[in-house]
Amino acid sequence: MADRSPTPGADTTMAAIPYYWKAVDWDALMRDYPPPPAYAATTGRMSADALRALQNRRFLARVAEAWSAPFYRRRWSAAGLEPGDIKSLDDIAKIPSFTSDDLKDAIAAAPPFGDHHPIGRDGFARTPIKIQTSGGTTGLPRVTLFDPVAIEVQGIQTARALYAQGARPGDIIQITYTTALPNAGWCAHDGIHHWLGATPLTTGSGAVTPSERQLEYAKAWGTNAWFARGEYLARLVEVARQMKFDLHGLGTKHIHSFLGSDIEGHLRRQLEEAWGAPVYDNYGSHEVGLIAFECEAQDRKHINEDTVHIEFADVDTGAALDWGARGNLVATSLHRGMPPIIRYNMRDCLIGSARARCACGLETRKLSTFLGRSDEMVKLRGTNVYPLACQSAVVEDERTTGEYLCVMRHVGEGMARREEMTVRVERRSTAVDAGALADDLRNALHHDLGVRVDVEVVEADTLAELTGLGRQNKVKRLLDLRKSGA
Ligand SMILES: [Zn+2]
Repeated sequence: MADRSPTPGADTTMAAIPYYWKAVDWDALMRDYPPPPAYAATTGRMSADALRALQNRRFLARVAEAWSAPFYRRRWSAAGLEPGDIKSLDDIAKIPSFTSDDLKDAIAAAPPFGDHHPIGRDGFARTPIKIQTSGGTTGLPRVTLFDPVAIEVQGIQTARALYAQGARPGDIIQITYTTALPNAGWCAHDGIHHWLGATPLTTGSGAVTPSERQLEYAKAWGTNAWFARGEYLARLVEVARQMKFDLHGLGTKHIHSFLGSDIEGHLRRQLEEAWGAPVYDNYGSHEVGLIAFECEAQDRKHINEDTVHIEFADVDTGAALDWGARGNLVATSLHRGMPPIIRYNMRDCLIGSARARCACGLETRKLSTFLGRSDEMVKLRGTNVYPLACQSAVVEDERTTGEYLCVMRHVGEGMARREEMTVRVERRSTAVDAGALADDLRNALHHDLGVRVDVEVVEADTLAELTGLGRQNKVKRLLDLRKSGA
């Protein structure tokens, strides 16, 4: 026995550890993807030609990497492409786009991580790898591997956004996304901690830190900015009201948020009033990071153009659209090769706007308000309806709590069988006349959606069970009972 015991220091298979801090050329990274404040003086205001040249160089590098991933090689070869065929960004439309369904197939074909990644499990010892997933769905969530560049660039993207929204070194920024498998909380953490000199307060969602405690911690420790979804900020407003907590007393400087389909700005106005601080909208994704952000001008969202190339596709056919047309966003990551993300149709509907010098000094193309998610889109009597498009009418009406859930079901039998959508809406209190509220919302929703839907008024705090509000990073707005036959 004694002969076999290992001698400390005498391990002949001594492992070479891929230390994180040596895995990146930090000076090169900061030069290539300037964090704030350098961003606003460099990449954030490049001439259109210089930007195009930069995007082109990065695009070709990512395309070359993608050829080594079986997922891309298979799809691109099937489309008749060969290495070398893509000579510049002008050729991008020759590359087939893909959706999250294709990524799920890639994972099923080469479990557990999928063959869109350039490395398999055996590569994990050579570079520091982090596993992140998309938000909760049924079955295993969609997994993405992050190498240090993928992690740090999404941190830089986020830091640029926060800086443009007024964040500065020394701020304490409370993050109400859980830093777990989904990526958003980490984007916030890394941006704030690594690239802003500010302090992240990672309270997580209401499931990790109950809403009352979120507010108590904020007050006790001096939170002066927030990184939180609009829906959860509204929830905190309700909780503050119930516990007679003075939100204005927090002295909040600004709030980084995702406002959803806040087309007429009702949610933003209500939140700004309740918090006594400006609220900034942003747009990002699990795989591509923080794609676009509002600056203090609150005039649409600046695109992080040196990190992502954006196109738009028709919602129904997937055909390429001209810039400025309403359509699904197709993203190509310009910074990450782990994994390459090339022509990813995210099925998020937005509108792009032309490059212009903004009041903040940045000069970029911009993105509109988020208009809806196509994989949640339902066809109702021939009209495309996005559940998120109900938000504006519901939030605007002071008689509601702002909470709603769209329920799709089949009604009738045989030839008379048809699809119906009922919007369940919470009334603020039992003193609200449910009949009058339902009538008014039916009319408002008919106007906003372009099709008639029914409205069912329910009591306050009863929808959270189904929407996941306060417990999950994402709030569910569609309950589809059609497949269950109900
Ligand atoms: Zn701006």
